[in-house]
Amino acid sequence: MNIFSFTAHFDSEEACRTHFKKERDEIGVVCKECGHTQHYWIKSRWSYECKNCRSRTSLISGTIMQTRFAFLLIILTSISIYFGNAQSPGSSLFPQITDWKLSEPRIWGPHNLYTPINGAADMFLSYNFEEMQAADYSTDSNYISVEVYRHKTPIDAFGAYSQERPDRDIYSDIGVQAYSEDTYIHLLANRYYIKIRTANSDDKSRPAMERIAAQQVEMLNKGTSFPKEFAYFPKEGRVPFTERYINENIFGYSFLHSSYEVSYQLNDKSYVLFILQGDLTTKPGIEAFITPIDTTGTLMPVRPSVR
Ligand SMILES: [Zn+2]
Repeated sequence: MNIFSFTAHFDSEEACRTHFKKERDEIGVVCKECGHTQHYWIKSRWSYECKNCRSRTSLISGTIMQTRFAFLLIILTSISIYFGNAQSPGSSLFPQITDWKLSEPRIWGPHNLYTPINGAADMFLSYNFEEMQAADYSTDSNYISVEVYRHKTPIDAFGAYSQERPDRDIYSDIGVQAYSEDTYIHLLANRYYIKIRTANSDDKSRPAMERIAAQQVEMLNKGTSFPKEFAYFPKEGRVPFTERYINENIFGYSFLHSSYEVSYQLNDKSYVLFILQGDLTTKPGIEAFITPIDTTGTLMPVRPSVR
């Protein structure tokens, strides 16, 4: 059974948006602030505005509409596995490395993450960020800085990692996954997103960075593997290293709280396939434009979504 044949597809972004607008109008919009059901349509923002309290409901997330074609599926329930706290309380996140002097860690929480990373903080906060610890390793002539971002769950950490991961880089299987160039190694271990950087990559700093990475993975990852939701995506045409996890409401529906995304290249066309995560049982009618799959990844029998 070909997963693509069961999903909605569109020739243009406009067609896709218009389709979802029509579906949404049929199902109806309820204001999340005041419960009112009458809305203005603001086309320039692809949003509904409540006639009573003026609060807005966005039809569609900006990230979803960037490519020509979109395929939509849904997972019925949350199936992410939570691995618990892999680090014992009080233990250091930063291993000692011979010949490198380790600084005391600096610790930042959700209330002050803006101080060290400023504008990047919003992205981390949207993925249930809990704490960031930063420390430096130095010699007389060089230094390595390490930032360890702790999120609530491994999929939250994956989400933040997937937002920053470049489209092209050198990938490896350090921890869950890592990408690196001469001056940095960014990696994912359990619920930790780790950034190891140096200004001067030389024959001493690079091996030291790799040892820090290996020891942090040993300490923190505890056998965590790549999020298994991505195993539901078909192999044909799949572009490597494009898996993303988006933690925000989809199409303005609060019950569609997150999505898994993978890019595809098929027959000279670009696609993004989404698995939306949410609870379908509360929203009869939405099957019109999505194809449910159950928690084992099996397609559920529904009427065809293309009309
Ligand atoms: Zn309202």
